[in-house]
Amino acid sequence: MNSSISTAPPNAAYDVVVLGSGAGGLVAALAATGEGASVAVFEKAPLLGGSTAISGGVSWVPVNHLQDALGIEDSREDALDYLASLSLGRMDPLMAEAFVDGARETFEWLDATTELEFTIVPSYPDYHPENPGGRPHGGRSLDPGLFSYLTLGPWAEKVSKSRRSAHLQITDTTLGGGTGLLDDQTKAYREAHDLRGCGAGLVGPLIAALIERGVHLSVNACATDLVISEGRVSGVMVSIDGIATSVTARRGVILATGGFEWNPDLVRTFLRGPMTSPAGVPTNTGDGLLMAMRAGAGLGNMAQAWWVPTVEIPGDTAFGRQRANLVNRERTVPGSILVNGKGQRFTNEASNYNALGGAFHQLDAADFAYRNLPCWLIFDGRHARMYGSFGTPPGAPIADWITRATSVRDLAATLGIDPTELERTVERWNGFVDRGDDEDFGRGASAYDRWSGDGDQRFEIESTLGRIDESPFYAVEVHSGTLGTSGGPRIDTSGRVLDTAGEVIPGLYAAGNVAAAPTAMAYGGAGGTLGPIMVFGRKAGRAAALD
Ligand SMILES: Cc1cc2nc3c(=O)[nH]c(=O)nc-3n(C[C@H](O)[C@H](O)[C@H](O)COP(=O)(O)OP(=O)(O)OC[C@H]3O[C@@H](n4cnc5c(N)ncnc54)[C@H](O)[C@@H]3O)c2cc1C
Repeated sequence: MNSSISTAPPNAAYDVVVLGSGAGGLVAALAATGEGASVAVFEKAPLLGGSTAISGGVSWVPVNHLQDALGIEDSREDALDYLASLSLGRMDPLMAEAFVDGARETFEWLDATTELEFTIVPSYPDYHPENPGGRPHGGRSLDPGLFSYLTLGPWAEKVSKSRRSAHLQITDTTLGGGTGLLDDQTKAYREAHDLRGCGAGLVGPLIAALIERGVHLSVNACATDLVISEGRVSGVMVSIDGIATSVTARRGVILATGGFEWNPDLVRTFLRGPMTSPAGVPTNTGDGLLMAMRAGAGLGNMAQAWWVPTVEIPGDTAFGRQRANLVNRERTVPGSILVNGKGQRFTNEASNYNALGGAFHQLDAADFAYRNLPCWLIFDGRHARMYGSFGTPPGAPIADWITRATSVRDLAATLGIDPTELERTVERWNGFVDRGDDEDFGRGASAYDRWSGDGDQRFEIESTLGRIDESPFYAVEVHSGTLGTSGGPRIDTSGRVLDTAGEVIPGLYAAGNVAAAPTAMAYGGAGGTLGPIMVFGRKAGRAAALD
């Protein structure tokens, strides 16, 4: 493997130029090389991998090639019905069909072309499994497995690494129903062999494949503008280590620069509601969106993002900024609820994170204020002891930054919530728990809720319903966050960028969160963003190479 780390020579020319090195960019680059194109990938950050590298790395792939061996039934019709049931009429059926029809082939090709070895995450239900075509027993969410970064030589240090999840597989994480912690022996083994999983397990084999195929990879290489000549995108201006460089793209430029979640102006302009806590890499500032707009692209899905509730732990940083921690396990295991500033519950806390995000955008017409922000996770002493909290293992003392009180009343007073109302909410919740039925929001009714709760009681309603009655009582503020925005230039079923009249902009392609998501608002299950991103990344890479 050619493992030298290089920067692009000035005025370089390639058949295909890819901007951004997350899943969209890496898969597009791999597909373009497969068609015989010379390819360069330019990455703005000092490290490769984007938000993909620090993600769970799971891909949602309906009708995939691993289902047959496990006797899992699936069909094109079910997958399309299911996506349509989640789209609120906003998804273009042709794009959904292109995704479903390309899914199996794309992941078979990745298995065959790279060192990726996907497996089905056992029993991981779709996120709305009771909807038409949904799968309560899983079968559509794929884990990329563990990959030894020792294989990458010096490039291993050039890939983003999550301090928390680098050595975990999805089933070890709270996102995948685990605790987020490894036993000492497993941890030591994986560290010694630099075995990385989740998003790192996904991007590692892709990067290895690109290096092997002679693809040029540059970090600290920020694309600043497209070069357009005679009505065609023919290259790109890239600032490489601060030096402006013109790079020619003989066949096409692929935008794969991620979302605009870290650009406050674009967030304020486009997103449908408050989003103050982005969880991905801070270099995702909408550069590709702005370049596409300047080139005359039509836009789609602009108000949407892949939503997620987050917690910000004081002093906990990632990439030099406040880290946004996803809140998964803490809100789905027994003994916790979410309340708003009025001290009232407002949703099924065990819903999937993307759907839960919608509750933060609910406007109260009387107050003309967002009804459910601010929001707090409330839990009790039993919950803290049994499940730990935000990195604290079960049984260990709960961290000082978490607000606490000896009674629900006192906790409410500390938070500035009406104490009587919070007491009433907790009593009502405890009544639902005793009767085994959350009459207000149906928590625990879905197979997804039960899977996401306490793994020891998985598939039972007790996995998520539990009383809040043991002092001390705790509270943590929960924020409206995102895994990445999902609106941008419209693309066609080959990943070609369309202009405001719906015509192809010659030489311009897009893949990943930079583009209008092919599934629009629909987040099918674990991997609901990466599945479509990889399918459309491949399409864009092939189409650009064959242009
Ligand atoms: C903690 C976490 C967990 C997640 N888990 C999952 C999961 O398990 N499954 C799932 O489906 N989704 C998951 N997501 C969402 C998923 O990570 C993203 O949707 C996906 O990675 C986006 O891929 P992308 O290629 O579009 O962008 P990214 O992976 O973000 O890559 C974009 C890259 O473009 C670069 N870039 C930006 N501007 C420029 C420029 N001007 N020039 C050159 N480069 C530029 C950025 O630096 C970045 O490296 C998760 C996200 C987070 C934060």
